[in-house]
Amino acid sequence: MTSPLPAFVAIVVAAGSGSRAGGGKQWRSLGGKPVIRWSVEALLGAGAKDLVVVIPAGAEAEAREALAGLTGWRIAPGGGARADSVRNGLAALGGAADRPVLIHDAARPILDAAVIRRVLEALSDADGGLPALPVADSLRRAEDGVMAGAIERNGLWRAQTPQAFRYQAILDAYAAWPADEIATDEATVVQRAGGRIRVVDGDPRLMKLTFPEDFAMAEALLPRQTRVGQGFDAHRWGPGSSVWLCGVEIAHDQTLIGHSDADAGLHALTDALLGAMGDGDIGDHFPPTDPQWKGAASDRFLVHAVERLHARGGRLVNVDVTLICERPKVKPHRQAMRERLAELLSLPLDAVSVKATTTEAMGFTGRGEGLAAQAVATISLPA
Ligand code: MG
Repeated sequence: MTSPLPAFVAIVVAAGSGSRAGGGKQWRSLGGKPVIRWSVEALLGAGAKDLVVVIPAGAEAEAREALAGLTGWRIAPGGGARADSVRNGLAALGGAADRPVLIHDAARPILDAAVIRRVLEALSDADGGLPALPVADSLRRAEDGVMAGAIERNGLWRAQTPQAFRYQAILDAYAAWPADEIATDEATVVQRAGGRIRVVDGDPRLMKLTFPEDFAMAEALLPRQTRVGQGFDAHRWGPGSSVWLCGVEIAHDQTLIGHSDADAGLHALTDALLGAMGDGDIGDHFPPTDPQWKGAASDRFLVHAVERLHARGGRLVNVDVTLICERPKVKPHRQAMRERLAELLSLPLDAVSVKATTTEAMGFTGRGEGLAAQAVATISLPA
C-alpha cells in the first residue's frame, strides 16, 4: 500500500517558442494528443488541487483547444524569460506558504505518477525535490569538432522536471535571485537562496522534446495498451451477377443485398476496428438512412475507421476475417482479398488473414439465404 500523496498545486510552463523543435511544440500532436495535454493530465490525475498553465501571449485559443474537456486548470501569461513565466504562474496560484508546488516543463510530456510522488516526498526533509538521472556517457568537451578535454562525470546528474518546493520558499528564492542572471530551473534558484534540494530518481521517458527528431523517440516511449475488437455482419442473397467480399469483386450468380455494396467482410472488419477503439459501430458513422451511402464502396468505411485510429495515435497490429457461406468458393480469391485489405490498412500481408468456412448446410448461411462474416482486429493505443 502506498500512502496518499500530500495535497499539491502545479505550474506547467509552456511559454517558450520551442524554436529548436520547429516552434509551438507544446501544441503539436504526440500520440494523438497535444504535447502539453500529456503532463497536464498526469498532474490532474495525480490530484493537483490547482494547476496554472503558463502560455505565450495570444495562445489562449491553442491552450483551450489542447486542454478541451479537462477541468481544474487555468491560464497565466508567459514572461520574457522562463523565470518571468514561473513568477507569473506563482502569482496566479497564490495560497498557503507551506503548500507544495510542482513546477513542470510542458516539453516533458511523459510524466509518470511515480515521479510526482518522489519529488513530493522529498519535501518531507528538504526544501526541494529534483528528479534527475545520473550521466552514463563519458563527457567530452569539443571545439570546432575537435576534442578539447574531458569532464569527470562522477557526481553529475541530468536535471528534469517536475521540481517540487514549498510555495513561500520558491517565491522568496526568486525574489532573491540576481536580476542579471538567467535562471534555468527552480532547483538552482532555491539552492542559491540556501535551500537544500533532494535529488530523486527521474525517468528516462521524461525526456525533453527539444529537436524535431525527439518527437519520434517520444512516440516510441509512450505507454501503450493493446486492445482487441470484434465485428459481425450478415447480408441476404438476391439477384445479381457479382458480389463484393473483403474489397474484391467476385463473379457469382447472386449478389448480396444492402444499402451500400453489402461487403459483409469489410463491414465486420470496420466494426472490429471501431470496437477496439470503443468508438461505436459502422451504423453510427455511416447511417443506413443517409442516402449518400447508397451503393457506396465499403472500403471507405474501413479507411474511415483507420483514420480515426491514427488520429488517436493508434496503430493497427493485425486483422483476421472469417467469411461464412456455402457459395461462392472463397479460397481462389483469398490471396486477392488479403492483398486488398493489406493495401487499405497499410499492413504487411502476414498481419492480414482471410479465412472461410461453411456451416455444413445448417442455418441461414447453410441454406443459402445469406452470407455472414466475422472479424477481429488488434490495435495499439497510447494509454
Ligand atoms: Mg453490413
